[in-house]
Amino acid sequence: MYFQTKRGYIRMSLLPCPECGNPVSTKAFSCPKCGNPLGSGTKGDSGKRGGITFWGVVGAVIVAILIMAFD
Ligand SMILES: [Zn+2]
Repeated sequence: MYFQTKRGYIRMSLLPCPECGNPVSTKAFSCPKCGNPLGSGTKGDSGKRGGITFWGVVGAVIVAILIMAFD
């Protein structure tokens, strides 16, 4: 997807929908074509295994950096 601006076009990061292959913005919560919920927008999905979320990983990395920095 391209957005036209005064300076030209800006390309957004798109990922193909795993269900229908429709290119979907990485910031979208679900596929606009088939409605398939995407990973970045789903929260508390009890149907999936593993409890490590993106922000959980980010938080762990930040804590690790802080621990090393103040050691
Ligand atoms: Zn889709």
